[in-house]
Amino acid sequence: MWDLLKDFWLLFGRLFPFPVEPGLRKVGDPDRSSPVLVTCNFELTVREVLSTLKRDGIDAWLLVAPTKGVNAWCAGGAGDFTADTVISIIKTSGISKLVDHRRLILPQLAANGINIWDLRDRTDWRPRFGPAHIKDLKAYLERNKTLTERKHRLVDFSVKDRFVMGTNLGFNVCLLLILPLLATSYWIPSLWWKSLLLMFPLSVACSLLVFWLPGKVGVQKGLSLGLIVAAIFVVWAHFFGGMTPWALIAWVGWILLVSAFVGYDMPSWSPLWRQDLKELLLGVNNTHVEVVPDKCITCHMCDVVCPTGVFGRNPETNKYEVVNLDACEACGACIENCPTDAIVNNFREGVCSCPTCFIIDGVSSVKSKLDQQKNSKLPII
Ligand code: SF4
Ligand code: SF4
Repeated sequence: MWDLLKDFWLLFGRLFPFPVEPGLRKVGDPDRSSPVLVTCNFELTVREVLSTLKRDGIDAWLLVAPTKGVNAWCAGGAGDFTADTVISIIKTSGISKLVDHRRLILPQLAANGINIWDLRDRTDWRPRFGPAHIKDLKAYLERNKTLTERKHRLVDFSVKDRFVMGTNLGFNVCLLLILPLLATSYWIPSLWWKSLLLMFPLSVACSLLVFWLPGKVGVQKGLSLGLIVAAIFVVWAHFFGGMTPWALIAWVGWILLVSAFVGYDMPSWSPLWRQDLKELLLGVNNTHVEVVPDKCITCHMCDVVCPTGVFGRNPETNKYEVVNLDACEACGACIENCPTDAIVNNFREGVCSCPTCFIIDGVSSVKSKLDQQKNSKLPII
């Protein structure tokens, strides 16, 4: 019953997750040669990892790291799942005394925060990144190779994931706009609840239909959905609505506005796309990542950690290079884990270009310009 309630809450409120106690979990009947896995302390992830390991009959030691209750991907990006976090759980769990080996399997999706070389240098463990999804762990272990198969490194955005992210997106959008909408109820009493009824299904539909809606990911796809919904609404209003033309125009405009906003916000809930202002508003490709060939030592790590298959090995030079730039979502995992700083990019140096950082960057650059002007006017003593 409690699990059911938690599942229900996670269907809507992932922005407010609840952590589980970090520490060591025994899965099945592990011995001194059993694999040691690391995961985050996001309740849903821990539950999924435990149930998948049990289902697949894998006896293992599971280290649940203290990531503030956040999932591996977001905690890695936020700096809450790093080499330090892994070292802390290794030390506090006492795992070193329980096994004879030093093989550590890390969640690949935390590669945007965990620097594997740092972890190797600072411990006697030999960490590796495992598959992107826990369902592929059995195949990875049976293969008994240090590298994951390429197909197990790539993330997808399945129908189930899209539905869950759509419900969370809808909840988030409603939460964000509820106060401004309530403020309008003084003039238009029914607008707030009608808008909530509109925003939630639009969010779910935008997430579910994202691969089929025309246009680029972001505002363009949101507007495509908005045009479809607006057309259906106009037909409905014509036959049953009994609206004045002005009311109809206002509602169509509102549907398009909300759809554009939902389309803009949707990528931040997906594992596949970058939250970049220019890309999401204008549909232009603003992301750049490139390998400097002279610096590449062909360690494979960029390819191992990239969740969208951006890199490939050039058979002639034997160096890695960018083969699918469009797929880059600027997660930073390759940059974090390239041992020679061979990967040039336009999103890790300085300020990230997500909307929040964009605003913070804008404010601080205006502030520094004002400071400069102020200083230049100071009298020279
Ligand atoms: S670019 Fe960096 S991470 Fe990728 S293979 Fe070359 S050295 Fe390794
Ligand atoms: S190429 Fe892009 S998507 Fe792939 S690991 Fe690097 S930053 Fe992430």
